[in-house]
Amino acid sequence: MNASGVGSDDPILLVAYPVRLEDDCACPESPRVLTVEASAFENDCACPQAAPSLLLRSTPTLYRQVEQAYVEETLPHAFRLLLSPYAPQGPVVVNAAAWARWQHFQQPQPLSEPVDFCLAEQALLWPVNVPVRFPSSRLQTLTVWLHVTNACNLDCPYCYVRKSSAHMREEIGLQALRQVFQTAHKRGFQSVKLKYAGGEATLHFGLLRKLATVAQKLALETGQRLEQVILSNGTLLKADDILWMLDNDVRLMISLDGLGEIHDRQRPTRSGRGSFERVRYVLEKIALPAGMRPFITVTITRRNHNHIAEVVRWVLERELPLSLNFYRQPLSSEGDLAAEEEALIQGMRAAYRVYEELLPPQPFLNGLLDRVKIGGHLHACGVGSSYLVITHEGKIAQCQMILEQATPPPQDGDLLTTVQQGFIPLISVEQKTGCATCRYRYLCAGGCPLETYRRTGRWDVPHPNCRIYKALLPEALRLEGLRLLKVHGYLKASSLA
Ligand code: SF4
Ligand code: SF4
Repeated sequence: MNASGVGSDDPILLVAYPVRLEDDCACPESPRVLTVEASAFENDCACPQAAPSLLLRSTPTLYRQVEQAYVEETLPHAFRLLLSPYAPQGPVVVNAAAWARWQHFQQPQPLSEPVDFCLAEQALLWPVNVPVRFPSSRLQTLTVWLHVTNACNLDCPYCYVRKSSAHMREEIGLQALRQVFQTAHKRGFQSVKLKYAGGEATLHFGLLRKLATVAQKLALETGQRLEQVILSNGTLLKADDILWMLDNDVRLMISLDGLGEIHDRQRPTRSGRGSFERVRYVLEKIALPAGMRPFITVTITRRNHNHIAEVVRWVLERELPLSLNFYRQPLSSEGDLAAEEEALIQGMRAAYRVYEELLPPQPFLNGLLDRVKIGGHLHACGVGSSYLVITHEGKIAQCQMILEQATPPPQDGDLLTTVQQGFIPLISVEQKTGCATCRYRYLCAGGCPLETYRRTGRWDVPHPNCRIYKALLPEALRLEGLRLLKVHGYLKASSLA
């Protein structure tokens, strides 16, 4: 092998361990296809030396290339990106030697070289006598949106909350937490993720502190792992709040829809003034100096779609995690702020060029495209299975966008019973006409079900953004390929030109 690894005769596989990004919705669960040494994948790693798992050693002897693998051939130095539809953790970048080995499996044969086991662990090779199917897995995390308040100091035109001064009383919040942990325990979840939201949740920071502290105690008592995140417009946070969040392992997600007036016209205050300068102050003068790295979420509408590149650059230059999300029209709203399809694709491509120029080392693929998650999933979100929304009155809803459909919690305290019988049916991407054979089905999982229904009147069809997904997914995957090459030192700056 030469110093850079380029032109190596040894097979090389580059993989990344996925990092979760925050957004409004509930992430679906991402089952692992095969058992692998977790430590081998905690960070980006080159795979050839990885020990094959015991599970692979005990599986049938003949393997073949999995069908519908995605191949990206335009990476530098004859590297290629491969993605199995059933990939446990996203795409793999292979050099020419590993590619040649994979080609070998056009004809069934046993795994014999170390690289064979790595390819099989990435679901790029599949046992010939095992039907190819998405693996079932146990749900691990119960995600709960706690709708702390209807109130907000901003007046964003796309907001789906009917504003009022109503907010959660402490006893309602405490009762909700008890029911959440009771539900998680009864249903066998291993962790609970609480999202404090509204309205603007930080208007009631005292309540957030109280609830988060009680949640920590309940998690200890019930043996659950706990994640907590505050979803905020970022305008009201003070240094004390940030320090408390850091001390208590409470994360922060901030909405930022552009720079300057682009953000201001999409996220004005209730008196019509801009909010960008305040968000910038909180980020640059309070959060970042204290060591807090908030997740940034951008909502893309017809008002900002051609300015996404600027905000992406601003965020990436500050090394913050970023998620690009498409506007969803509330069911009750007449106005539609969705960007026109082709214009949205062009705006996203401009943003992707910034990613390509800066190529941050941290995994970013999960944030590149609305609802798209690497690590296969059957559903676009956890609605109906591992997600629930609790209103300020303690009622239960399936999704934060249909708060008005919330109903009282059931007598037996199992909150998931309510969401499993709700308006949004639990339909997997495999049950969607037009999605079932799509090679991207386990990445986009058919998109937001509620938005699909609102725009088509059906739950069982591809998302209206399907063409956008198909146009942008190859480009997003290519960016991940370039990132993996850069992280592992196989990409010189000149390669990007
Ligand atoms: S919505 Fe489109 S891209 Fe997504 S799985 Fe369905 S057909 Fe494929
Ligand atoms: S139904 Fe749509 S808006 Fe609601 S949680 Fe799922 S993806 Fe998000």
